[in-house]
Amino acid sequence: MPSEKKATETAMAETQEIRNLLRGLSFQDNLRPAVVESESETVQEEGLAPTGKESQPAPRTPTNPTDYYPKIMTLNIGGRKFTVERETLRNESGLFRLQLSNQYTWSPEADKSYFMEADPDLFAHLLRFMRRPAVFPLFYNSATGFDYDLYNRLEKEAEYFQIGVLHTWIKEKKYLQAVKVHTGNPRIRDLNMVHPIMLPANRSDTWYVIQHTRKVYLCPRQIAIHRGHPDMCGAACHRAQAMNEVVYEDEPFFQVVSVEKEIMFDERVCMVDYTKPRSEEIR
Ligand SMILES: [Zn+2]
Repeated sequence: MPSEKKATETAMAETQEIRNLLRGLSFQDNLRPAVVESESETVQEEGLAPTGKESQPAPRTPTNPTDYYPKIMTLNIGGRKFTVERETLRNESGLFRLQLSNQYTWSPEADKSYFMEADPDLFAHLLRFMRRPAVFPLFYNSATGFDYDLYNRLEKEAEYFQIGVLHTWIKEKKYLQAVKVHTGNPRIRDLNMVHPIMLPANRSDTWYVIQHTRKVYLCPRQIAIHRGHPDMCGAACHRAQAMNEVVYEDEPFFQVVSVEKEIMFDERVCMVDYTKPRSEEIR
């Protein structure tokens, strides 16, 4: 930026000129006008009283932050107590890494527990993951499907506690790949051929009943057992039939179309991939 450089040079020259002028007028240093003060900012800062250091933590003894909090901690999460190893929290959660560092002072309650405002039910799921960070949670029920509400809430909670792998897994809806529904070919059977059978829990049958009409042969002598079975009619029936047209009767009948669904669980989808970074930070 040549123009800016030029402006700076001009300003510096002016400052020097004013300074020379001031020297000539024998001003005392402590009476220097503001235009000269701007050049001595570093001197001014060094002279500041240490009021700006309040944000730094008070020194601790022992100074090692991992020693400051007990090895086994009792957390009070929204009113429910959880007993957990300090390192479990620090290993898996960015929030606890910060909370249990020397950057903050987290004072225990009178009962030595450490209170945090959060949903204990959701925290229980997070803690289950933090304790054994190998398996992602699968909230699925064959009747109601995935528990999207729980996943949504847990995603936000994993983000808050900065449990990166869990947050990403839920956010990317990887759990959808853990459950696959295989649909078999439709099978068509007459209703009286269908017998209920026991299916394993991961298989289910969906039935559709279809009504049809079929023509049923009527015996010319109206013999009941000949109905629908022209081959059973003998010579007497044939004589009765003579030249008359064969009579058929419309009869409704029902068929069942069944489609079998099989739910397959792919447990690999729920396994934590250890080749990826363990606890990526959430931005
Ligand atoms: Zn007959």
